[in-house]
Amino acid sequence: MERTLIRDIREKDDTRISCSGWVHRIRKLGGITFLLLRDRSGILQTVWSEEPGLNLESVIQVRGRLKPSEKAPGGVELQVEDYKLLAAAAPNLPVAVNQDPTKLSIEALLDYRMLSLRNPKIRSIFSLQSEILRSFAEYLRSLDFTEIKSSKLIGSGSEGGTGLFEVDYFDRKVFLAQSPQLYKQAMVAAGMERVFEIGAAYRAEKHETPRHLNEYVSLDIEMGFIESDQELMDLEAEILNYIFEQVRRKNADILELWDSSLPDPEAMRKIPRISYDEARDIISTRLGRRIFELNPEGERELCQWAAENAGVEAVFVHSYPRKKRPFYTYPDGRHTMSFDLLFRGLEISSGSRRIHDHDLLVENIRRFGLDPEEMEDYLQVFRYGCPPHGGFAFGLERLTQKILGLSNIKEASLFPRDRKRVSP
Ligand code: ATP
Ligand code: MG
Repeated sequence: MERTLIRDIREKDDTRISCSGWVHRIRKLGGITFLLLRDRSGILQTVWSEEPGLNLESVIQVRGRLKPSEKAPGGVELQVEDYKLLAAAAPNLPVAVNQDPTKLSIEALLDYRMLSLRNPKIRSIFSLQSEILRSFAEYLRSLDFTEIKSSKLIGSGSEGGTGLFEVDYFDRKVFLAQSPQLYKQAMVAAGMERVFEIGAAYRAEKHETPRHLNEYVSLDIEMGFIESDQELMDLEAEILNYIFEQVRRKNADILELWDSSLPDPEAMRKIPRISYDEARDIISTRLGRRIFELNPEGERELCQWAAENAGVEAVFVHSYPRKKRPFYTYPDGRHTMSFDLLFRGLEISSGSRRIHDHDLLVENIRRFGLDPEEMEDYLQVFRYGCPPHGGFAFGLERLTQKILGLSNIKEASLFPRDRKRVSP
């Protein structure tokens, strides 16, 4: 008999079906056993006249007849006729799979990751994340972007050598890439003009915050023949709007489960664009004291300001001072053609127009205390004709975190890497 997925059960009465999945919960009432069976698509109540003696999380195949039931999820239950044990689970789970996961500490969630990921609410984070990835790529392909995969092993740092993990590479040391920055620029110049990459990025940063991981997934974009960073902000808002639309359409149940909603297209068109200096003024006024850096408190305050004034909890901050941005950022007087997107109180993306003029780039590399001779490969990109270009990158986990309202970014990473944790 063919397997029926729980979400595909349409008939409510007297149909014989076979379902397979995990033993989610067992409840005994009188002489009857109610067993909740879980598969990737949902949960089904099954009714057993004889106690099967199964441990929670065992994997089984059951066959039986459907009967309507008011109390069961989906209004239907399965009267079990026979079953097969596909894999027995050991007794005494170290962490309960069927409980409300928000009651678990982040340590418990991560220490027992192999089991906590079985919880439907936890698993839903990653179903939604998969939709972010799919819609991001789909939208960019529709605009003639090409997906690339660049190496994560690099000879030297793209941002100036700090915050890099060293790796033994035969008889020498190399580093884990902090971003695909230099390679995506190279591919624009190689003639692809428009590229995107989804890949791991590594930051050897010691901070322990609810918004930093030491390994995260970077959604990178780079495009040629732009005139200003305003075009990049336009594209970024469009991409995000498309992702939100798709998530709303495909993952409405998950948004509801996490009690979250997303800005609609009208709100997305109204995201304010303010300069770094204006941002500092707004924050200073709101906090009643002069601030000099755009810190996490300021980022939250600015999103609050945007929510109150533009009706959207997002804001672009552009024109960062030169010393606050990497050497490849296009200068604009004392400032740069660069921007961050803050969403629900957190930076979820950074971008900029890049320097495409070889001599200006060499000058800026020196200005940043770096050695152009060590960047010979990179400089070749510009020596032989590179169009004006720019790009940006989203952090996948930060985006997921903010869409669902997760308090810690680690919840949005399957197997997060932090200062202490490299397993599971
Ligand atoms: P922050 O200032 O918040 O530490 P950043 O400015 O150093 O971040 P960028 O180098 O601009 O980060 O990286 C682009 C995007 O990648 C960020 O906006 C963020 O979404 C994501 N990102 C960067 N570093 C991390 C990290 N350590 N953990 C998770 N996501 C990150
Ligand atoms: Mg940034």
